Amino acid sequence: MMLALHGKGVSSGIAIGRAYVLKRERLKIPEYVIPAAFVEDEVQRFLEAVETTRRELSDIRDHIPPDAPVEAASFLDTHLLILNDTMVSDAPIKDIRDNQWNAEFALKTQSDRLIAVFEGMEDPYLRNKKIDVAQVVERVLRNLLNPDGHEAELIPDELDGRVVVANDLAPADAVTLKNKGIVAFVTNLGGPISHTAILSRSLGIPAIVAVHGATRYIDNNDVLIVDGKRGILFVAPDTIVISEYERRARKIERLQRELKALRTSEAISRDGVTVQLLANIELPEDMAGVHQALASGIGLYRTEFLFMNRKTPPDEEEQFAAYVKVIRELPGQPVTIRTLDLGADKHADIDLPTTAVNPALGLRAVRLCLQEVGLFKVQLRAILRASAFGTVRLMIPMLSNIDEIARVVELVREVQEELLRTGVDFDTDIPIGGMIEVPAAAVSADLFAAHLDFLSIGTNDLIQYTLAIDRVDDTVNYLYDPLHPSVLRLIAMTIDAADKQGIPVAMCGEMAGDTRYTRLLLGLGLREFSMHPSALLEIKKIVRESAIADLKQQSAQVMAARDPRAVQMLVERMNGDGDGATEG
Ligand code: PEP
Ligand code: MG
Repeated sequence: MMLALHGKGVSSGIAIGRAYVLKRERLKIPEYVIPAAFVEDEVQRFLEAVETTRRELSDIRDHIPPDAPVEAASFLDTHLLILNDTMVSDAPIKDIRDNQWNAEFALKTQSDRLIAVFEGMEDPYLRNKKIDVAQVVERVLRNLLNPDGHEAELIPDELDGRVVVANDLAPADAVTLKNKGIVAFVTNLGGPISHTAILSRSLGIPAIVAVHGATRYIDNNDVLIVDGKRGILFVAPDTIVISEYERRARKIERLQRELKALRTSEAISRDGVTVQLLANIELPEDMAGVHQALASGIGLYRTEFLFMNRKTPPDEEEQFAAYVKVIRELPGQPVTIRTLDLGADKHADIDLPTTAVNPALGLRAVRLCLQEVGLFKVQLRAILRASAFGTVRLMIPMLSNIDEIARVVELVREVQEELLRTGVDFDTDIPIGGMIEVPAAAVSADLFAAHLDFLSIGTNDLIQYTLAIDRVDDTVNYLYDPLHPSVLRLIAMTIDAADKQGIPVAMCGEMAGDTRYTRLLLGLGLREFSMHPSALLEIKKIVRESAIADLKQQSAQVMAARDPRAVQMLVERMNGDGDGATEG
């Protein structure tokens, strides 16, 4: 009977194949005393298992497909480094010699200590490292317990077209499995930022994680359909479901091929208008997607993510390193660093003043920064120092008042003078731009444009504040409408104001990466779109298929329409029937 299981879709795409259930028994760690005469043999046995593990990991690393993402190699490098750590490869030897412990027990004891150290760390990234330690140690333990069959050989060779179902997957397993031809990953555990999630996205393999009980409900060779976009897994599907999914898979494949070919093409319309397609990022780790889509720069670096899941804010050096890392990866391309936008739904554990009354209308973003000047200046220093390494643009979120610009500029000048005095390099002409995401700023965009070097329309907040619907409140979600005439008018006003002032204007809210609105925005005169990198090639395809002159006329009709249904229909007509949103 067909069964549908739900999890978190972390890598989109559709796969249909038979299950390969990777069942690994939990390791039983033996504990015994080694007679004194055999202690050196035991040390030798340990060293051989470490060596076998090193060979296996290096071997897997060397067989990463050439087009694989950088993360695959870097995860394996991290695992090799952990293997070389004295706590893993040296300390157990001392226990074998001093306490006459068997190798498995000595290694397990040391790794438990190391994992406890990581668990005690404040930084969530480092805390997460305990998973890597556990995965490396498990591999060594399996080699100790099973010296004849190498760990890697426990996975059969014939996996072409199979869907792997596992409790969890280590990066090395994921790469090995990919090389053996598997078509999708399904795991019991994991979240959107787990290794499996990150790797499957960049290996381009559909994946669903957190399918609780997957290994329990699914048997080897069961037919599975993995819908990585929706996070649905069908077990033993009916023929009707299979043929529908086969149709969808073919459609996605066609589109993916087409999009891939566009990677190196220019974002230029049929009538020769060049459009900038930029990426939104939250952490330096997001850069893999940026490279994959060949974005022409960063239009929004949401720096608040560096401040989340921790009790103390990152200091100047840590921020500087994070900014420079991104800048160095994009030589010659603009990197738009947005200053801290904490508050409202962007919650941090850092001790900061908050507004209890109505967070969305309270002390958020630039308002908070102008109150917490010490915290803000640390960030400005880090951004300014980073500006010496590339083309950096500074962007202020949530402007509602022109005085806020003056106060930020004053602080920037103060920091610049401090840097000058101490002989630290920075870009003296760093452009300072502002987000237009509060209706007040959009309505008077001409006044804001006069004081700024560029504008960027944040439609997520602009829609929330214009339509008075909390962006995280499900009960009023149905009112969320980017095509509401008030929203479209504010967008058009902002674009016109920037054009009149002769400064660039971008859009960096979700609307910029949504194919349903691309043609309309092009028609309204938008020439810079910043979005999640995964949307970039689809948007590029639309740009390349468009004649801007036609879109201009059609957009004018949309703006003149007096009925929301007419707006909807006109926009659908611009997009052509059934076009726009794509599967995948
Ligand atoms: C926006 O509001 O549209 C925006 C891009 O900023 P954020 O989503 O980070 O608030
Ligand atoms: Mg915003």
